[in-house]
Amino acid sequence: MKLQEYTSSKGNFEECMKCTVCTAYCPVLQVNPLYPGPKQAGPDGERLRLKDPYFFNKALKYCMNCKRCEVACPSGVHVADLIQAARIKYDTTPPKLRDQILASTDFMGSLARPFAPIVNGVTGLGITKTVLDATLKIDRHRTFPKYSGRSFEGWLKRHRKEQAAFPEQVAYFHGCYVNYNYPQLGKDLVKVMNALGIGVQLLDKEKCCGIAMITNGMSQSARKHAEHNVGVLKKAVDQGLKVVTTSSTCTFTMRDEYPSLLDVDNSAVKDSLLMATRLIYEKLEKGATLKFRADYHKKIAYHTPCHMEKMGWGIFSEKLLKMIPGVEFVMLDSACCGIAGTYGFKKENYEASQAIGAALFSQIESVNPDIVACDCETCKWQIEMSTGYPVQNPISILADALE
Ligand code: SF4
Ligand code: SF4
Repeated sequence: MKLQEYTSSKGNFEECMKCTVCTAYCPVLQVNPLYPGPKQAGPDGERLRLKDPYFFNKALKYCMNCKRCEVACPSGVHVADLIQAARIKYDTTPPKLRDQILASTDFMGSLARPFAPIVNGVTGLGITKTVLDATLKIDRHRTFPKYSGRSFEGWLKRHRKEQAAFPEQVAYFHGCYVNYNYPQLGKDLVKVMNALGIGVQLLDKEKCCGIAMITNGMSQSARKHAEHNVGVLKKAVDQGLKVVTTSSTCTFTMRDEYPSLLDVDNSAVKDSLLMATRLIYEKLEKGATLKFRADYHKKIAYHTPCHMEKMGWGIFSEKLLKMIPGVEFVMLDSACCGIAGTYGFKKENYEASQAIGAALFSQIESVNPDIVACDCETCKWQIEMSTGYPVQNPISILADALE
């Protein structure tokens, strides 16, 4: 279905019964008076935009695409999709240099990786942050994720033979963060999968899922990435493989945003693409076992990322963490951390971003856990920067707790 048809039919704005529940759940509306809110920006605005594109409101750029309005809507209106689709369709402003840099995670990662120690040193300097703040409007309070000198892809290629020896196989969509910034998460996934008797394979050259391109006005590039990724996912699925992921946002983008925002048909791969936590939980339910260390004792507070909330899959991370005998588990209240990928890096959004996350940060401080668990890398950056508590993906916690 073409985007234009989607916004007017599958976008189902006529089903809005004007209850305003979505407005109560929108984190941006609570802190930014310039944002019209999901009801006005979504179904109400869509009626007007279809009459005349003149009614497109540039303030829709303040939507973080967190999907909390969609989770809350009793009529199942695709509120956030309507807003993002309208931005794609009507906003002809070319993306700023800053937004292009922030959105090009694959490109920036491959440039930075060979010089990781230098790049990490320079981006950590106060003077660099001040210059980036003044010139590109990347907020000076932000801490950039560190780059790794060695890629995850390179590491897994070196272990290809031993992985291929396992009787069961999965393919892994690792995403930019694991490949360029934090290969350890990918290694942790391999450790857990191997403990279940499953070998891990790379896809035939994945690309960035494209979410940052979608939200930064680069939908054409995002569509190319989506078409490429659906092709390589299909190759794996045609070989009978499931494809696992460790990032809730990459997963949500490839499963839900490709068809709804980019008109890219993913029906051949969608059901085979899942969070690793879900696959592991299902294996354990069917009788597989994991042996945990007797000396692992941690208080773990779990934060459900917004896109995980939308998929309804936080339950798998929760159940897995509760299976570790030495874990004292605390479920944090459902709340947005405020960063929304590249959104919180922008100077104009920084204050709102921190105000949105404030309730979550103070809850974490009152729980005082050893570790905050979370399936999204950008939530991790935001929580670590704003609270000082360490944040780990549930897969890394499982790997660490294994015997
Ligand atoms: S929650 Fe759904 S039905 Fe209610 S106002 Fe928002 S979009 Fe309309
Ligand atoms: S996606 Fe999030 S920020 Fe955008 S309107 Fe919905 S609740 Fe608000």
